[in-house]
Amino acid sequence: DFGTEQQKADWMPGFLDGTRRLAFGLTEPNHGSDATYLETTAERDGDEWVLNGMKRWNSGLHHATHDIIFARTSGEPGSPMGISAFLVPTDAPGFKIEFFWWTFNMPTDHAEVSLTDVRVGADALFGEVDRGLELAQHFVHENRIRQAASSLGAAQFCIDEAVAYANGRTTWGKALSVNQGIQFPLVELHTEAAMLRQLVRYTAWMLDKKHHMEVTHLVAMCNYRANRLACDAADQAMQTCGGVGYSR
Ligand SMILES: Cc1cc2nc3c(=O)[nH]c(=O)nc-3n(C[C@H](O)[C@H](O)[C@H](O)COP(=O)(O)OP(=O)(O)OC[C@H]3O[C@@H](n4cnc5c(N)ncnc54)[C@H](O)[C@@H]3O)c2cc1C
Repeated sequence: DFGTEQQKADWMPGFLDGTRRLAFGLTEPNHGSDATYLETTAERDGDEWVLNGMKRWNSGLHHATHDIIFARTSGEPGSPMGISAFLVPTDAPGFKIEFFWWTFNMPTDHAEVSLTDVRVGADALFGEVDRGLELAQHFVHENRIRQAASSLGAAQFCIDEAVAYANGRTTWGKALSVNQGIQFPLVELHTEAAMLRQLVRYTAWMLDKKHHMEVTHLVAMCNYRANRLACDAADQAMQTCGGVGYSR
């Protein structure tokens, strides 16, 4: 949607055979929800751009060949205009992965990145200069409905595992699953998962039919509800499974 014809010709073969992989660098140590206040800058120097700044939660950098770096090219902090996107090779001089974040007790692919006088050519500009926020929103909407579907799948897995355990476990001489105290919370979660599935599908359909900014609220509703459901279902599944719910 945003690449030039030349970029499409250059990039698509690599995307298809897996030799090129993109990460997405918008969030920074000081700015996440308020991403339009980003502090990373890109300054023009002849035919090149010079980038300086930091990125946080930069997912996928364990195998990305390039990073979409969002940087301010004009305007004041907070302005939606004046942000531009650049396709930066992850092996460019000055591009450094400082560390990968751990979440809870797991290592992750979410990197902390510093950019120090990173130089890229004019052909690295992705989309129009100063209009990078449109690209970011496009990506986020497509990515957040993916996240919603992913969380819904995780929730359904937890529900199914809990039901299977309750059916197979015997307490006081009968199946654990015959107790309504076990059934009701799982039935409520299963019902919510079924309703949410329809909302996710409807939203995906709307994303295909309309401009993504017209359905941003639907994407947010899916994402909010699905991530909440994944946590609720995981909690209930752990309780249903008793002690082993706490084990790996
Ligand atoms: C697993 C993971 C992967 C990620 N991958 C990427 C990635 O690949 N690329 C990328 O660029 N970013 C990525 N992110 C970053 C993500 O987009 C940010 O975490 C998100 O935008 C929130 O920013 P923040 O963490 O700085 O929270 P903050 O902006 O500091 O917000 C903290 C809390 O306050 C709330 N809040 C903020 N402002 C207000 C307000 N005005 N009123 C009320 N509440 C408010 C927020 O909702 C949040 O709950 C990832 C994050 C995670 C956890």
